[in-house]
Amino acid sequence: MAPAKKSVQSWIQDYPNVFSYDGSVLFCSVCEKVVQCTKKFQVDQHDIHKDVKLTIGT
Ligand SMILES: [Zn+2]
Repeated sequence: MAPAKKSVQSWIQDYPNVFSYDGSVLFCSVCEKVVQCTKKFQVDQHDIHKDVKLTIGT
């Protein structure tokens, strides 16, 4: 079952320039691919862009 939209948005709020979420699909703009996001840890595990987020979205 998909998590509530509000939940996913709270998970990704630390990575505003990395992830975008349209209510059904979580998209990583760094990898340019969809990320599974049924659990928060999936978002946290995908946090491989700690430095990248400083260089994109500017
Ligand atoms: Zn990514």
